[in-house]
Amino acid sequence: MNKIEHIGIAVKNLEASNKLFAQLLGVNHYKIEEVLSEGVTTSFFKAGPNKIELLEATNLDSPIAKFIQKKGEGIHHIAFAVTDIYSEITRLKNEGFIVLNDTPKKGADNKLVVFLHPKSSNGVLVELCQDIE
Ligand code: ZN
Repeated sequence: MNKIEHIGIAVKNLEASNKLFAQLLGVNHYKIEEVLSEGVTTSFFKAGPNKIELLEATNLDSPIAKFIQKKGEGIHHIAFAVTDIYSEITRLKNEGFIVLNDTPKKGADNKLVVFLHPKSSNGVLVELCQDIE
């Protein structure tokens, strides 16, 4: 894995949280994007070289809606940038990690993404993402 690509934070109200994180980070979000397959609207912030992704559910079946119901708002996942997502999937499966989707999906910010089940990684939901060329 190359680096932490971003940290995902589940929020109830994206508009309010966009304001809050703009105050916190001292910059406005640079993009808002809906990801239909995940039932979320996302917004992205840059803090120096690092990225923060805020996620708001767009429907009650969204993984973000379920997460907030169970745990409340807060850190939802850590995303790592990878160069070859397919070989990482194979490598991590061989190491015993539970990969949630075998085939990478198109995520926000022009990426192919897969998630690892938190129960195989100490309660941390891990996202792998690779830039789509
Ligand atoms: Zn993410």
